[in-house]
Amino acid sequence: MTRLEATDVLAGKPSSFDVSRVRLDFPALSQIVNGSPVAYLDNAASTQKPTSVIETVTAAYTFNYSNVHRGVHTLSQRATEAYEGARETARQFLGAPLVEEIVFVRGTTEGINLVAQSYLRPRLEPGDEVLISGLEHHSNIVPWQMVCQQTGANLRVVPINAKGEIDLDAYKDALSRRTRLVAMSHISNALGTVNPVQMIVELAQQRGIPTLIDGAQAAPHLALDVATLGCDFYTVSGHKVFGPTGIGVLYGRLDRLNEMEPYQGGGEMIRSVTFESTEYASPPHKFEAGTPHIAGAIGLGAAMDYLTELGIDTIGAYETDLLRYATQCLGRLPEVRLIGTADDKAAVISFLLEDIHAHDVGTILDQEGIAVRVGHHCAQPVMDYFQVSSTARASFAFYNTAQEVDRLVGGIKNVLEVFGR
Ligand code: PMP
Repeated sequence: MTRLEATDVLAGKPSSFDVSRVRLDFPALSQIVNGSPVAYLDNAASTQKPTSVIETVTAAYTFNYSNVHRGVHTLSQRATEAYEGARETARQFLGAPLVEEIVFVRGTTEGINLVAQSYLRPRLEPGDEVLISGLEHHSNIVPWQMVCQQTGANLRVVPINAKGEIDLDAYKDALSRRTRLVAMSHISNALGTVNPVQMIVELAQQRGIPTLIDGAQAAPHLALDVATLGCDFYTVSGHKVFGPTGIGVLYGRLDRLNEMEPYQGGGEMIRSVTFESTEYASPPHKFEAGTPHIAGAIGLGAAMDYLTELGIDTIGAYETDLLRYATQCLGRLPEVRLIGTADDKAAVISFLLEDIHAHDVGTILDQEGIAVRVGHHCAQPVMDYFQVSSTARASFAFYNTAQEVDRLVGGIKNVLEVFGR
């Protein structure tokens, strides 16, 4: 069955999204791996890069490279223009009102640590609470644990239900006068659950509690609009949105950024320095100590331009069809146990095959060129909740096809056969 036939059947409509053409933009997708065309189904871990991003990064190093901000010479001016241009691109991509609200960081992890140390740490007192959910990636757990240890505050966790959804009643109950910050993911990387972040933010806001949304998994699939969402902080990783590694964005509302002290000092983040004292630069530069990842930021801008050109809503609709198709196909195999069956899901299928170890599943699939991730997905508490140590996870991007889903199903059948099931 071709992709169009499969999705047409499922969606009841022809898809206007030309996936074959789009795949040509990604050189990595035309590779042969272990004798078969690669089926890259590990997009929640990291995404492949379109030629436009690769060429933009190459050009940044080949023709327009120098350090940014301080140079009077032409190459430095070109690099600065491209770097700051990428910041404006990121502002538009996130729907942030002001370019000063866009801080370049290494990725979601660094964005969260920045907020934990610069915003939260000076504001936490013993007995205060930081509220997260049972669905979080380790990078939205450990930085809060660290800041709680440093201050005597407590980490409080909103439970999830058997489908892998945040328990909203428990969330409402957990919001208290001691809550100093709510930090939750937009989409779970382990299960694909799309969290009701608008409601989560509104409920916190009604009590005057600031919010951070971990958007690492949402940015590649959903149109972002942080202004409408109303959160105080939002974090994104470049490598998950078809951009370079080592670069990401922290959106912070300007009044919040203004009231925060930087947690790293150095060049680039100052207005003036004497041995006695330092006057910091204004946001966002105040939080970007040292030479930044110049080419990375420029490449991230190219990736965001690429996604915007494709149309996030268009790719989101296509991915929804693909996920529905994959869920139905895997659901027909009685040996498959789906982990995470939220009503609102995006792009991720976590599963187990009876008692076969997920690592064996991943290894056998790899022999056919099918790339899935196996393990705890940096979300051990989620695994604990479902009483499993690991899962196999197929995670989709807009360049994946129904044929690749069919290959995954065939590969799963092979695994079952190898294990005599
Ligand atoms: N949060 C979520 C939901 C994620 O999926 C990831 C990456 N797997 C992160 C945070 C951390 O992102 P990074 O490693 O790019 O900093």
